[in-house]
Amino acid sequence: MSRKTESKRFILSVVGRIFDPIGILGPFVIKLKCLLQDLWTLGVDWDYELPPKLRHKWQQWSSEVEGLTEIKIPRFYLGDVDQELSSVDIHCFSDASKSAYGTILYLRFVTCNNKIETSFICSKSRVAPLKSLTLPRLELTAALLSARLAKQDNPADLISRGTSAVKLAQNELWWHGPPWLKLAPDHWPNRQRDILDSELCSEELEYRSSVHVAVTQQRESLVDINRFSSLKKLLKVTAWVFRFVNNARIVNKSMNFYITADEIQNAEYFWLKYVQYEFYSAEILTLKRNEQLRCSSEIKSLVPYLGEDNLLRITGRLLEADLCFGEKHPVILPRHCKFTELLVIREHERIGHCGVSATLTQLRKNYWIPKGRQLVKTIIRICLICKKYNAKPADQLSGQLPRDRITQSPPFQIVGIDFTVLVEGNVKLKLLWELGIIKEIFIGRDNNVRSCLVKTSKGLFKKPIQLLYPLELE
Ligand SMILES: [Zn+2]
Repeated sequence: MSRKTESKRFILSVVGRIFDPIGILGPFVIKLKCLLQDLWTLGVDWDYELPPKLRHKWQQWSSEVEGLTEIKIPRFYLGDVDQELSSVDIHCFSDASKSAYGTILYLRFVTCNNKIETSFICSKSRVAPLKSLTLPRLELTAALLSARLAKQDNPADLISRGTSAVKLAQNELWWHGPPWLKLAPDHWPNRQRDILDSELCSEELEYRSSVHVAVTQQRESLVDINRFSSLKKLLKVTAWVFRFVNNARIVNKSMNFYITADEIQNAEYFWLKYVQYEFYSAEILTLKRNEQLRCSSEIKSLVPYLGEDNLLRITGRLLEADLCFGEKHPVILPRHCKFTELLVIREHERIGHCGVSATLTQLRKNYWIPKGRQLVKTIIRICLICKKYNAKPADQLSGQLPRDRITQSPPFQIVGIDFTVLVEGNVKLKLLWELGIIKEIFIGRDNNVRSCLVKTSKGLFKKPIQLLYPLELE
């Protein structure tokens, strides 16, 4: 590599020359990718010299390139093992840092003599996106959770931090995975932990309680709700994320092809809890401490209480009524919240786009939204399907009638071709006369129509106009 011009253009051409389809050099190459990202964020011009700090990084990286010659990779996954294998499995590790994230696969095989070996299959690495909260972020957060299991000896840690070529060549962890992978599964780190929603929410609670003193620092949720326009989709995605996190942590994995109803319900429960903690954390804390709600609280008049499922519900006055639990003690939901909007849309669609009152009644079977009528009205006003059905037809002014239709004249003086008429038959009853279409007209000497060629169901006939009658439509 010549060092005459160390510009962005040059570095990009170096990156383009690296051919590493299975990510063998992941931890080394990621350092260069991060450097390139810095170049873009700093807005360095294509052919300008690099800023001193980045130039130093670049020089360090290029001086390490020679170390790559020390790396030798066996072509065969099984190395020099030539015995029958009793089991083969693939293990995945992932990790993320502020600057990069990645994942690695290892092949773990057990020979007939119970000898366990591991070998590197492939790795993928990416620099962390500059914009926070993109869809990869979602997967990344989930992947991060899975990686927390093996924090100390996670090979993916190398990708997220990067390393030099020489260190990579000697790194056992990178080439063969963590040492415990070569032991029997009972010696693996303990992975029995339960799913996170309670965890997430309690973290949320702690955070919110400190917010009164501190300044704003938004805690990002696992799934960005603003990217969804349908509750069904949101719940499905949330359920998949939970499934993924569960599978990454627990040995008995769910390999079901579909999301089950229970999982959807779990996802909905998670969101209800999440939204309540976000908007009513002060109330929840007060209720947990068995204290009186503050007068300024928006929901004080509803006399809320914490149900068995830790959701804020209305006490209400219908305790003796013959209603289901949800109707007696609906869950309180804030009005200005994306989740509530999606919920209203779902209920509105569920009852076939009924009006405001019907939608509100349907909602109140399970949820209570303070000043909910207003929200339902707004949602229905922008509902496209309702708009289409409620649209009034445009008022069209009719045009002027043609002269022929408004001047008096003997019958059949003005006749159109394809004009449908009744043809008088042998019977007296008009109802039994046949219908016909005028195909041709014959004009007499006095310039009046005398006879017509009429097509009926039985064929073409020439008939005098005395036998033809206009259809009595009115
Ligand atoms: Zn509608």
